[in-house]
Amino acid sequence: MKIICIGRNYSEHIKELNNDTPEEPVIFIKPDTALLRNNNPFFIPDFSQDVHHEVEVVIKIKKPGRHIPIAFAKDYYDEVALGIDFTARDVQSRLKAKGLPWEKAKGFDHSAAISQFIPLEALNNETSQGIRAAQFHLEKNGEIVQSGNTCQMIHSVDEIIAHVSEYFSLRIGDYIFTGTPAGVGPVISGDRLKGFLAGQEMFNFVVK
Ligand code: ZN
Repeated sequence: MKIICIGRNYSEHIKELNNDTPEEPVIFIKPDTALLRNNNPFFIPDFSQDVHHEVEVVIKIKKPGRHIPIAFAKDYYDEVALGIDFTARDVQSRLKAKGLPWEKAKGFDHSAAISQFIPLEALNNETSQGIRAAQFHLEKNGEIVQSGNTCQMIHSVDEIIAHVSEYFSLRIGDYIFTGTPAGVGPVISGDRLKGFLAGQEMFNFVVK
């Protein structure tokens, strides 16, 4: 399986990092060794002094496909999770300045934290209207540090699936991280991270 990530998909986050708004989705891939599950602790890697949290809605691909038209994209997923795209911001800034790929900053071991998956229907309640308008937020040590709504995405989930599948065949069990809203920031040893999607607690783990 592979973990496909979308960058720069929320305009407020683009502004906070002084990036340009992309005309088409920015895509990068993490290897399966990046997975962090079951609320296991996240260990800050030795090579970074500035690892950031990026809370993101994650979808799971349920059938194989390539060149998927937007109109059919909804047939390719029916479960959703919340995750953190851990990013070694200092390493990423160094690589970006040289025009080099981001892999070391984005794809390192356990950099893709993912909650359990819930059915898409669970996103229909007082706080959320399905995948198109799902409320989510991240708490660090009990304080809300990031909050977003999937209605703020520049590229919708269906647009992402259509675009990604032009370049990469999708397989059952692939994950797509759909981008982070504003409020990214550093984590330090001892932090507790809790993620909520459509009012439901999705993950709760510590940083070591
Ligand atoms: Zn991200």
